[in-house]
Amino acid sequence: SRSSDRPAAKRWDNHLTDECRARAPGILKVAARFLKRPGMISLAGGLPSPDYFPFSSISATIPAIPGAAESDVFEAESTIAMGLRDIASGDAAFDLSVALNYGQAAGSAQMIRWITEHTELVHKPLYADWDTCLTTGNTAGIYQALRMLCDKNRGDSWMTEEYCYASALETALPMGIKTVGIKMDADGPIPEVMDELLTNWDAAKKGARKPHVLYTVPTGQNPTGSTQSAARKRAIYKACQKHDIYIVEDDPYYFLQLPSNSNSHQNSSKLPINTFLSNLPPSFLSIDTDGRVMRIDSFSKVIVPGARMGWVTASEQMIERFIRHAETASQGPSGFSQALIYKLVDEKWGHQGFLDWLQHLQAEYTGRRDVMLAAFEKFLPKSIVSWNSPSAGMFCWIKIKHSLRPNAKLYSALDIEEEIFAACLKRGVLIAKGSWFRAEPDLPLDDVFFRLTFAASSAENMEVAVRTFGTALRSIFNLA
Ligand code: PMP
Ligand code: PLP
Repeated sequence: SRSSDRPAAKRWDNHLTDECRARAPGILKVAARFLKRPGMISLAGGLPSPDYFPFSSISATIPAIPGAAESDVFEAESTIAMGLRDIASGDAAFDLSVALNYGQAAGSAQMIRWITEHTELVHKPLYADWDTCLTTGNTAGIYQALRMLCDKNRGDSWMTEEYCYASALETALPMGIKTVGIKMDADGPIPEVMDELLTNWDAAKKGARKPHVLYTVPTGQNPTGSTQSAARKRAIYKACQKHDIYIVEDDPYYFLQLPSNSNSHQNSSKLPINTFLSNLPPSFLSIDTDGRVMRIDSFSKVIVPGARMGWVTASEQMIERFIRHAETASQGPSGFSQALIYKLVDEKWGHQGFLDWLQHLQAEYTGRRDVMLAAFEKFLPKSIVSWNSPSAGMFCWIKIKHSLRPNAKLYSALDIEEEIFAACLKRGVLIAKGSWFRAEPDLPLDDVFFRLTFAASSAENMEVAVRTFGTALRSIFNLA
């Protein structure tokens, strides 16, 4: 337990699946704890000897990032390196003999220390017995959370935003978990709609038990780009307390905040750490008094997706169950990833350097967002198209007034969506259909949306693609 001046989390036994409850600690992991006794000789675990690791060191070059921040860690190109026996031979806290061997599924003690400090710095949980462990990314986090909480044999269902990250939907579908979409406005899922749905839930009519889990992407939501205000989060949290809902907060875009005034970030000196932190919106984790939130974070969008590294934060009870699953699945993230990310975020950057890096990313993505919005202004026919201006993340969400298509009555919304999609594809531009992200694809489709990302293409290509999108729309809608 981390902070004894704070209250303890509630228990979530009634939410856990039989499978989750039945997971016992790996017997060899338990035995490994005896190794802490000084002088213990182990003939128990099948750990390969580091003498036979065909790596004596690894290193990586960190590019210079001119103007990334005041801090000098970004000024010049630099190298990070880790040797096989650094712990024994010097004062290093981590080395390859540890990182590349079997370890605990929660991740190395070294990385967990960094994550714990980071969590206390950024989220300051309000309850005492929170804990954290590493994952192989949020994809695995979502999957393991679902296996912990939802069971089709119990008739379980979960709630998501009405437009939802496609991979989360694809996780639930083959598990036989019913997905219930919550209607959204510009601020994200609408708490009154959720409250009414839960209050009037009719299990027989809906073919599923009343949902007991909410999956939500509160920042720069994928695909709608919407970001929940602090007030919205509090209202959702309150509704979840009322209906005994456990919250899975999938927040990979939390640090990709995009200020609306793009002049405010360019060439300006970076904010002091406390100002930067206090400008971040409160997370669900940071307002969680009950321990009812499992927060899922990822290095994918802020360092590299290929590291396959992220972490979850929740009450000790939930993290313990989560680790039991990881022991028989991923067995934690790759040792190479843990070694390199640790060297970067702990030894090279430190917490201040990491936050400086995030400010640099924010400025970059804000610039990209503004290029895309300017292209929308220039090339899209406003009589039939409207869009949001995302305040976080990587996505713009575009609404098409499909009823203005000539002879619209002869076509369904789905037909017109496909027609626009195909017309863009023919012209060499791939955009994402709104219908790909529908939580409940069997319901009638009323609106036509497209998701466009400003993360991936160059400014020139973004302009070309948006102009092409505009040309395709003008031809289909018969506009000048
Ligand atoms: N299968 C068997 C038979 C094993 O002995 C071990 C490792 N002790 C494993 C699987 C686990 O392998 P991995 O490290 O690739 O997860
Ligand atoms: N969750 C959301 C909402 C995402 O948009 C993404 C990536 O697109 C992921 C999770 C996957 O993250 P990871 O790379 O950590 O598995």
